[in-house]
Amino acid sequence: MLSLKKLCKSTYLTERCIKFMKGIIFDIQRCSLHDGPGIRTTVFLKGCPLRCVWCHNPESISPRPQMMYDENKCAGCMKCANVCPKGAHIQTDNGHRLDYKLCAACGICVAACSNSALKIIGEEIDSGAVIDIVMRDMAFYRTSGGGMTLSGGEPMTQFDFTFELLKTAKNHSLHTCIETCGQTDIVKQL
Ligand code: SF4
Ligand code: SF4
Repeated sequence: MLSLKKLCKSTYLTERCIKFMKGIIFDIQRCSLHDGPGIRTTVFLKGCPLRCVWCHNPESISPRPQMMYDENKCAGCMKCANVCPKGAHIQTDNGHRLDYKLCAACGICVAACSNSALKIIGEEIDSGAVIDIVMRDMAFYRTSGGGMTLSGGEPMTQFDFTFELLKTAKNHSLHTCIETCGQTDIVKQL
């Protein structure tokens, strides 16, 4: 019988097969130049315990995936209403309205909107898939002194996932940084 190590093509894929640690992220930004030394890949995790009015990533505050609706792109065609199982898209005298309280962030309506007015912010992903993407720019990290940065949101709100990403990155000799507000119970206990 083949072992997991033989089934998987690389060390980081091996860890992915074995652990499947999952987290919620809303973006992975390659070629980041302002999130630490050198050329980096920044992973944006969802969830933050603070509510700063100056937050530059307000879509990161909720720990869960959420719907984002751009009314400026909406043509009022109501194709979204035809597919939504929750009845969250409502036709009013003033045109289309989205009831965020009804939305379950299933994402079904996104494909129905040909005007790109709807988008789901946040997705569940396993740590191995994140590291797969981060490792693509290894040559740039080596020449620039860069690596992987965890940002958000507040990465420590997903402590196990953050820890897993950092541990796996270190196993591959990646330089790592965290952008943190320091305001989590876990941080306070350290
Ligand atoms: S499908 Fe898109 S363009 Fe049409 S009403 Fe819904 S959000 Fe607006
Ligand atoms: S994401 Fe799902 S529940 Fe939310 S509005 Fe679209 S179809 Fe309805």
